[in-house]
Amino acid sequence: MFCPQCGKEFTNRVNFCCQCGTALFNPPAPRKPLSRSRTDRKIAGVCAGFADYLDLDPSLVRILWVALVVFGGCGLLAYLIAWIIMPEEPLRQISPAPAPGVYTQAAANRGTVSV
Ligand SMILES: [Zn+2]
Repeated sequence: MFCPQCGKEFTNRVNFCCQCGTALFNPPAPRKPLSRSRTDRKIAGVCAGFADYLDLDPSLVRILWVALVVFGGCGLLAYLIAWIIMPEEPLRQISPAPAPGVYTQAAANRGTVSV
């Protein structure tokens, strides 16, 4: 393997280049917390939260969960427990105020009121 910064060759697997200090590995992405979905929910967002955590289709998780309720019997209790235990996913950052020059409803109101 070669250092992308200085081009030094390494025969063994190393984490950092000994010549320039460049990181030569990609650390694993931090695991996202298990939480109930705010946007994709039918009841409380439990199935969508599990689907997001496990990288599955939310509909597939819902079908499996309904099958668990119908055939297994403990699915409803498991859903209620998950609803209580799992926190809601954190709120996403709200976009800042519109850039200057952008037409807004407030500007339109000012225009009609001032007549
Ligand atoms: Zn280097």
